Order: sequence, then C-alpha cells, then structure tokens
Amino acid sequence: MAERAYFDWNATAPLRPEASAVIQEALALPGNPSSVHAEGRAARHLIEHAREDVARLAGARPADVIFTSSGTEANMLALSPAIETAAEKRPREKLLMSAIEHSSVRAGGRFPRAAIKDIAVDAEGRVNLAALADALSRTSRPLVSIMLANNETGLVQPVAEAAALTHAANGLLHVDAVQAAGRIACDMTALGADLLTLSAHKIGGAKGAGALIRASEAIHFADPLIRGGSQERGMRAGTENVAGIAAFGAAAAAAHRQLTDEAAHMLALRAELEEGLRSITPQVVIFGAAAERLPNTTLFALEGVKAETAIIALDLEGIAVSSGAACSSGKVQPSHVLAAMGVSPPLTRGAVRVSLGWTTTKADLERFLNAWRKVSGALSKGSKEQRGIAA
Ligand code: PLP
Repeated sequence: MAERAYFDWNATAPLRPEASAVIQEALALPGNPSSVHAEGRAARHLIEHAREDVARLAGARPADVIFTSSGTEANMLALSPAIETAAEKRPREKLLMSAIEHSSVRAGGRFPRAAIKDIAVDAEGRVNLAALADALSRTSRPLVSIMLANNETGLVQPVAEAAALTHAANGLLHVDAVQAAGRIACDMTALGADLLTLSAHKIGGAKGAGALIRASEAIHFADPLIRGGSQERGMRAGTENVAGIAAFGAAAAAAHRQLTDEAAHMLALRAELEEGLRSITPQVVIFGAAAERLPNTTLFALEGVKAETAIIALDLEGIAVSSGAACSSGKVQPSHVLAAMGVSPPLTRGAVRVSLGWTTTKADLERFLNAWRKVSGALSKGSKEQRGIAA
C-alpha cells in the first residue's frame, strides 16, 4: 500500500508497543484466571496488574474497576434502573442524558424508552446546565449520563457542574469518558462521577475491552448484564479476555504517564491543521472552534461539499478521515450531534472529522493539507457547476 496518513483516531487508535508486547505474553499463558494453580495465578496477575493501571487513569481504586468487552458494554451495564447504593436499594425510574451522547448511551441501556429524557445542548455543543437543572427539579433520584468529551466535535462537557446539580437532586452521574481518556484528565473525584466508562482501543489497547469504573464499592448492580460465574465481583460473568485486559492496562499506564506530552503534541499539530484548513478554504466552518475541545479533534464542513464525497476523495489521496456522523454500518447517517447543536442540514451533511494522535507527525499533516488543497478545489468546483446546472 502506498504511504498513507491516518487521521481517524477517534474511531480507533493504533496499538501501543507496550500493549502489543503484553498481548503476546498473555496469549502464551495457558491458565484460566479463576484457577488456583500457578498457570491460573499467572493469568490472574496480568488482570490485576491491568486493573491497577486502568484505575490510576481514572483516579479510582482498583477494586472499583469492572472489566467489560467494550465501551458499549460498559455503557449498557451502567444504564440500569437496578443500580444500587449502600443507602438506596430502590430502582431508579428516570434516565436523563445529553442529546449528544454516543449511540451506546443514546440506546438507553436497560431503561424503557418512556423513562428517558434528553437534555439539550447549546449552539456550541455544550450541555445546557439550566435545562439539566430544570429536568432534575421535576425528577426524583434519576440516573444522569453526560459524556466527558464528544466523539464527533471533541467538545468537552461541563461534567463537574452537572455532577453537583445531579447530586443535589439525589441523582447518580454516569460519565462516558471513552474519547476523553488519554487526551485530557479523567479523574473521577474531580469530575464528581459515580460511574465512568473507558474503552481500551481508543487509548492504544486492543479492540474488544472496556471498563465501567465505580466511584466506590457502595455502588452495585442488582441485575448484572451478563450473569453466570462470579468474575468481576459478580457484576460481569464470563472468563476474562486476559490479553485484551492486559493490553488495556499497558495502554492506560502509557496514556497516563505521557498525557501532558501527548496532549501538547496533538494540540500543536491540531492548531497547524486548522490554520492550514482556513488558509486553503477560508469559507470552512470548524465546529466548536471557540469552545474547549479535546486537543486531537477537528470537525469541519464546507458548504456544498458532501462528507462522503470528501472522505472517498481523501482516501484515494492516501488520507484516512471519517465523517462526523456515525458510520457504524459503513453508511453515513446524519449527525444527531450537529442537529442537536442547531447546525443546518446542508452543513451537517458535509461534516468531516479529522482526529490525530500520539504518533501523528508533521509530515502526516503536510500530506493531509496537500490532499485537502487538491480535493477541496475539485469538489467545490464540481458543486458550483452542479448548482449552476440546477439553476
Ligand atoms: N462512547 C463513545 C463516546 C465512543 O466514541 C465510543 C466508540 O466510538 C463508545 C462509547 C463505544 O466504545 P467501544 O467501541 O469500545 O464499544
């Protein structure tokens, strides 16, 4: 394959070398981590070591980390009416969530549709705290789910403020930190999160591992999503994905250790990227540019240029980007995030997401900007001609 530049880190990040090394080690182990013999204990050791590293990334205690098969599963486990605290064992009847959550939260977990209420966001894509306060004043003991940073726009949400409002209303706060981890701090105590979701493959672990982290052991699920054995303190049955979990731990340790340097690296490259975009296409719209965003994400659109067309044209030039919108089935769906922000449909259809990471180089950036110069020129011309014919 000709040389390519990868700018789709919010979809998934490449495996970190530390994670790759421990995968090999874990796959060579024959034991089941639940077995008491030496082979079992060796596998158990890898899991417990990873639990410490993942806990550290979230500022939590290892005992409060529940490993799952993905961020999606962690979200699904979290969003349960049967979430209990030491003081309160009654089911929770309402789920409040921001209108810009990932589809794995938007699906509502195990809450019935009628029990779910959306909280609006402002034009910048940040959760409207007045709307949250208003919804909380009408609800008793809700579960609230607000992401730390949005996967499409990279916009950082006012989670600590939302936590204070939620707790004052006797609610619990779940925070999807899948995109934030490794890019900004994710300390559960500072955020005021009662539950926090992470996914291994966004921080340089392997695909197929995630975690739901509790603020304390007082939080418990009376109805585990997967029932059976007593793995993960009875909250997630099934023999653990030892290699995936070990890699998750190695990636979390690296992400934690290198957070400041990696964030600075991504931010500097992103600033250059946006400067380049604006100079090549002055009419470009960069969503949420004035608000606090993850250091690695740019979501932009050119009026009249469709995202699918731009992505395919860039792919042919050796550049991997994605549309801002969900593309889980290979088909681009209109973005519910931009719709919630009140962006006009023609602009929404053109949203292209460029996300970078710790191995992105200046040379990658130059390759992207050269490709964008070529592609945007050709597509804008095509779109003007089409409009001319239609008129
Ligand atoms: N939450 C957010 C914000 C995401 O961006 C994603 C994945 O794109 C998920 C959850 C789901 O994580 P996973 O791919 O591990 O299921």
